[in-house]
Amino acid sequence: YNNELQRAEKMEIISDLAASVAHEVRNPLQVTRGFLQLAAEKLDQKEKGYMNMAIEELDRASNIITDFLTFAKPQLEHITSLNICQELKQIEGILVPLANLQGGEITLEVPEDLYIEGNSSKFKQAFINIIKNSIEALDGQGQIQIWAYKQKTEVWIHIRDNGEGMETKELSKLGEPYFSTKTKGTGLGLMVTFRIIEVMHGRLEFKSEKGVGTEAIVRFPSIPG
Ligand code: ADP
Ligand code: MG
Repeated sequence: YNNELQRAEKMEIISDLAASVAHEVRNPLQVTRGFLQLAAEKLDQKEKGYMNMAIEELDRASNIITDFLTFAKPQLEHITSLNICQELKQIEGILVPLANLQGGEITLEVPEDLYIEGNSSKFKQAFINIIKNSIEALDGQGQIQIWAYKQKTEVWIHIRDNGEGMETKELSKLGEPYFSTKTKGTGLGLMVTFRIIEVMHGRLEFKSEKGVGTEAIVRFPSIPG
């Protein structure tokens, strides 16, 4: 019992430390990004290309840090009632350009009166991770369907893509830290997503078939609007 307590205290110290380092490192990255953008205005086309690559890599670093930060400190700070339709529409707005770049399309069918309890930015982080994976799995003629409904005391949200799909073995590894099949992947996205959904008292399940596509199903306790 004593050992358990010490272990918990140590974990707490480590996660506090991770969170503060992550937080401190993210700020200078954001500042650097701003100056690079300013500097890029005066450059020629080829140099602008290099600058964009630098900015993309900075964003990648920033996203990795955000994922780590969330894993170290998944506790929700501002808990409010979330309107699922509004949240998903905002996420769609952020991801449509990325989907179009991959030749993919996103459709959203969500009634306006679904509510759950949670933190809006964590909710977005979790769903952006899921939908980004769908976008990255697409290969021409891509379709991502998002729909939601109330089922008894729960809100169910489905995200289905017709991307490359997964073998059973890959499917069972989802959410494991560092499991990634991508050259530039971190394997942190779904680990964090599972964690966020868990602290919001939800459940996340995946179904997938190689060559056919993947479907994520998320359930949360429903609350009155
Ligand atoms: P990353 O995206 O950095 O690789 P994730 O944790 O987000 O890490 O995903 C882990 C792995 O799960 C991916 O590399 C991919 O192999 C697989 N995966 C996740 N979502 C999908 C999907 N919608 N379609 C196909 N494979 C997926
Ligand atoms: Mg990912």
